[in-house]
Amino acid sequence: MKKTIEHIDVKGMKVLVRCDFNVPIKDGKITDDTRMTAALPTIQYLIDHDAKVIIMSHLGRPKGKPDMEYTLKPVADHLAELLGKDVVFISSPTVVDDKVRAAVDDLKEGDVMLLENVRFRPEETENTFDFSSELASLGQIFVNDAFGTAHRAHCSTAGVAGYLPTVSGYLIDKEVKYLGEALERPQRPFVAIMGGAKVGDKISVIENLLNKVDTLIIGGGMAYTFFKALGYEIGQSILDEEHIELAGSLLEKAKEKKVQLLLPEDVVCAKEFDNDSESAVFSKDSIPADMMGMDIGPETVKLFSEAIANAKTIVWNGPMGVFEMPNFAVGTRKVAEALAASEATTVIGGGDSAAAVTQFGLADKMSHISTGGGASLEFLEGKVLPGIAAIDNLEHTDENVELYKHIYAAQDKN
Ligand code: AMP
Repeated sequence: MKKTIEHIDVKGMKVLVRCDFNVPIKDGKITDDTRMTAALPTIQYLIDHDAKVIIMSHLGRPKGKPDMEYTLKPVADHLAELLGKDVVFISSPTVVDDKVRAAVDDLKEGDVMLLENVRFRPEETENTFDFSSELASLGQIFVNDAFGTAHRAHCSTAGVAGYLPTVSGYLIDKEVKYLGEALERPQRPFVAIMGGAKVGDKISVIENLLNKVDTLIIGGGMAYTFFKALGYEIGQSILDEEHIELAGSLLEKAKEKKVQLLLPEDVVCAKEFDNDSESAVFSKDSIPADMMGMDIGPETVKLFSEAIANAKTIVWNGPMGVFEMPNFAVGTRKVAEALAASEATTVIGGGDSAAAVTQFGLADKMSHISTGGGASLEFLEGKVLPGIAAIDNLEHTDENVELYKHIYAAQDKN
């Protein structure tokens, strides 16, 4: 178990917080502030408990140089609006300098400051000790709440933890709770749903999940590589040629592990990769040579929905079809609806499935939507995430377990 902000006294302390404020910005305006609102409970807690809050984040890829296209200034302005209070921001090309240090020294209890984009420094992504200690010198406690970058060992995510007592914020804590419990202590039946385009990206996740789940559902573009491994003709459907053999061995492994593996029974095929292309439903073994699979068909929706309805824990990563095109979004929508209707604990991996669930207006029906695409995949792969490994451990006593239950109950109510 990891220590959280609730396990330390932050009053009067300079608290360095790593957030993931890597938000999309167009013409100086933030177009989606989900990542910022997700970090607010942690920031608000620190304000309410009289900490001096110093936030760090990256934005985009400025390639280790100060580049004003990637300044965090718009983020600082938006954060001030969200919090309803001033946010100190100094656009230092070196992130830390004497002006920044002086501003930190001037902070009063409950004040908030945002540092400039940590990726203005080339050392950030190299996780060097010099920039880590420079950042750490600004604070007395480190709070990591950036799940989206927890799979990267960078100065501001892992390096600083070498110099300061380190705890997690609410966001990381919630991610670890839902993803961790699904993997380690799932209520059964445990069903994982994998989709998306490439098998290659998700092989290790599937391999790890085959050791944990009762049922593995495979839909989306990756299903065609499995079909190919089974000897079906897939027409013009997307194929990950390099991984056909591996797909075959995963099918074997599922059998060995006695995991029920569900593939589509029928698919919606189109002549072209276009929303308005002529389309029709075909069974899995009769995909026409001149067509491509774009979505799962109605029989498959029924099959997958039944498995979902019986599950007690569900993890979903990757769309069931080309959901960006409305005519081929039906399968993904139906699966999202089945999850929304289920009583199970539902955990949605970041990225496309999170976007799909939000697009369908079903986000508040899910137990947890991960804020990290890459990070949630690595978590599901069973990898150690450096940003989480860096957080101090809490001794596992009965008292602490009670304390955690209390925290989660309070969070779930919010
Ligand atoms: P991934 O990044 O691997 O999770 O893939 C997500 C992408 O897979 C989305 O942009 C979907 O449009 C795409 N996708 C899902 N199903 C299909 C399919 N049958 N053919 C082509 N692309 C697909």
